[in-house]
Amino acid sequence: EQALQHGIACHLAGGTHHAHYDHPAGFCIFNDLAVISRYLLEAGRVHRVLIFDCDVHQGDGTARILHDTPEAITVSLHCEQNFPARKAQSDWDIPLPRGMGDADYLKVVHDALNYLLPLYQPDLVLYDAGVDVHKDDALGYLQLTDAGVAARDEAVLRHCLGRDIPVVGLIGGGYSKDRHALARRHGILHHSAQRVLDYPQ
Ligand SMILES: [Zn+2]
Repeated sequence: EQALQHGIACHLAGGTHHAHYDHPAGFCIFNDLAVISRYLLEAGRVHRVLIFDCDVHQGDGTARILHDTPEAITVSLHCEQNFPARKAQSDWDIPLPRGMGDADYLKVVHDALNYLLPLYQPDLVLYDAGVDVHKDDALGYLQLTDAGVAARDEAVLRHCLGRDIPVVGLIGGGYSKDRHALARRHGILHHSAQRVLDYPQ
């Protein structure tokens, strides 16, 4: 609702994309992405939602719950060789090779958004900004730096706002025993959003 009103809203949690319709999985109990999509569609607040899931793991729960909801487009960029072993079928799955770094990853993000946003022209984008793509993450196999994560977040937000599409940021996954380092990493989303608002193109 805040994103629809203001153009952008970032949650300090959420992005629990492994939760299924009737069972939890992968540290996720409740699939907020699917529930937000269904709720806003059924309330008539939006006609089409696009879920851009950049968590390093596939958004399998979201894909399965929304499989028969054509107005909710599920897009998952994920490391191919990672949890879940048995992948679901999103509308768009973009599997990435292990060890991918900033430059190659950012090109995929730009190409995907340049293709998908004009194609679907969604009324809202739900952006799962998982930081388990980070090189120091305990469960990811990609190699993004802090700067790479910030560039990704900023790119997704600018792609949406540049086309007047409201966007919701959710923090998604991120795993480290060092809670302060992890909190800082998740905070990149909110600092990126602040930059986008302070310096619109
Ligand atoms: Zn994850």
